[in-house]
Amino acid sequence: GCGICVHKCPFKAITIVNLPEELKEGCVHRYGVNGFALYRLPVLKEGMVVGILGPNGTGKTTAVKILSGEMIPNLCGSNDSWENVIRMFRGNELQNYFERLKEGNVKKVVKPQYVDLIPKVVKGKVRDLLKRADERGILDKLVEELELSNILDREIQHLSGGELQRVAIAAAIARDADFYFFDEPSSYLDIRQRLKVAKAIRKLAEEGKSVVVVEHDLAVLDYLSDIIHIVYGKPGAYGIFSMPKGTRVGINAFLEGYLPEENVRFRPYQIRFTKLSERHSQAGDVLVEYPRLVKDYGSFRLEAEGGTLYRGEVVSIVGPNGIGKTTFVKMLAGVEEPTEGKVEWELRVSYKPQYIKADYEGTVYELLSKIDAAKLMSNFYKTELLNPLGIPDLYDRAVNDLSGGELQRVAIAACLLRDADLYLLDEPSAYLDVEQRLAVSRAIRHLMEKNEKTALVVEHDVLMIDYISDRIMVFEGEPGKYGRALPPMGMREGMNRFLANVGITFRRDPDTGRPRANKEGSVKDREQKEIGEYYYVS
Ligand code: ADP
Ligand code: ADP
Ligand code: MG
Repeated sequence: GCGICVHKCPFKAITIVNLPEELKEGCVHRYGVNGFALYRLPVLKEGMVVGILGPNGTGKTTAVKILSGEMIPNLCGSNDSWENVIRMFRGNELQNYFERLKEGNVKKVVKPQYVDLIPKVVKGKVRDLLKRADERGILDKLVEELELSNILDREIQHLSGGELQRVAIAAAIARDADFYFFDEPSSYLDIRQRLKVAKAIRKLAEEGKSVVVVEHDLAVLDYLSDIIHIVYGKPGAYGIFSMPKGTRVGINAFLEGYLPEENVRFRPYQIRFTKLSERHSQAGDVLVEYPRLVKDYGSFRLEAEGGTLYRGEVVSIVGPNGIGKTTFVKMLAGVEEPTEGKVEWELRVSYKPQYIKADYEGTVYELLSKIDAAKLMSNFYKTELLNPLGIPDLYDRAVNDLSGGELQRVAIAACLLRDADLYLLDEPSAYLDVEQRLAVSRAIRHLMEKNEKTALVVEHDVLMIDYISDRIMVFEGEPGKYGRALPPMGMREGMNRFLANVGITFRRDPDTGRPRANKEGSVKDREQKEIGEYYYVS
């Protein structure tokens, strides 16, 4: 079956073998009487990075809280002592760990999921925060590895999301612990930063530490982990940790939607990445030829070369943070006036900004039905967009009460429901889990193909870029100072250009076709760099 193939694929009926059921044993924690329940826990291994992969709302953060000793699990009853936890895990690899935890004999540190909350509890300069954290005396190295030197004298309140993330990660790594937990370390980071962070985290394991990482960017998770756990179940109701698996096999099983050891199918279709080295969107009609555009903010200047967009294509916009991607998209959306050049066209544009606000009084249904009530009823939009993004489940919710991931999905749906010629989506995968990222990618592709519309998508997740793009637009320059946008180009040329700037090579997994980052200095990495093929080698 190929329910989520990028290119035209025949419909195949799929028999669902064994959808996950709530387990009878192994319940570790339940919130409230009929609340969410977590089953089993991940392993901890000295000298290894254990990766955790799974949907939002399946208990990943809860597991981190338990293992880091922040919370004694109630064992789905009224338990409040570590003794009973130790008893339950007798014979399990975690028994000894919990014994040490009970005795207060575990040195551990957690990089929390929500770095946005840090400025509320920590004040002062970055330098002082990092100095206090630096129990290992490695601050100078970390500052260099994570490129923090420019922000050391900044106040924590003034940091952007990506800066906060890197400071939080540096502070965690600088602590002298035996167990390190990183809850979603790649949020707000560009690809280069994600891989730098991945390397810094891997180094901990190489030094013999036990590391656990929750991560939604599959390329990063793949690069980071020695083994992985997949969490499956029903978001908000229950979550089950799978057995530990080898990273490659585990991620492939995830894409397959089937866990052989557990005999559980958790998704009725498999996910495949196209192995076509080039797509041919330029075969379509021209949508628009846009002119050279310049935006000068004084301290930052963006020059975008003119280019052509075709009907029915998806073009990804890639490049580091602070290079002008959002600025470019805003000029096309008519939100920012160019300093040079003019966007003079008759095109209807639908725009999803990077930073979305929930400033709407009313329910999700009211918001979306104002945009296009008929489409909410149409089978086409239900199948291609609304159901895959889980929007109907949110209809009765107040827009103001949505979580980051829920709001993101509603904003994407709102953007794609509008009648337009050009769809602009700035970082649609922020706050989304892997499953949702793939659903969004698939919806964008199908709608553009079938409606013969055009989309520009700013994105950092390499698997998503690979999955949705016909062509890509590369932004180069010096972040925060100047940026240059190249015209859209073919995937091979564009990815080579982009990845050469980043200094990483990718290969394809033979079974699923997914891109995998090569380890720096590996045979493949050196060979590919030599011939200048950073991305597509068969
Ligand atoms: P994940 O990290 O996989 O997104 P979490 O562990 O944060 O999942 O949450 C799993 C489920 O437990 C969610 O449905 C969440 O709403 C619920 N939950 C988390 N914390 C609490 C809490 N303190 N009280 C009640 N429910 C909670
Ligand atoms: P990206 O989307 O690639 O991360 P942006 O387009 O958001 O980059 O920003 C590029 C640069 O322009 C950043 O240094 C940012 O601080 C600066 N910038 C963005 N908007 C403004 C503005 N309204 N005034 C001054 N500088 C701005
Ligand atoms: Mg941006």
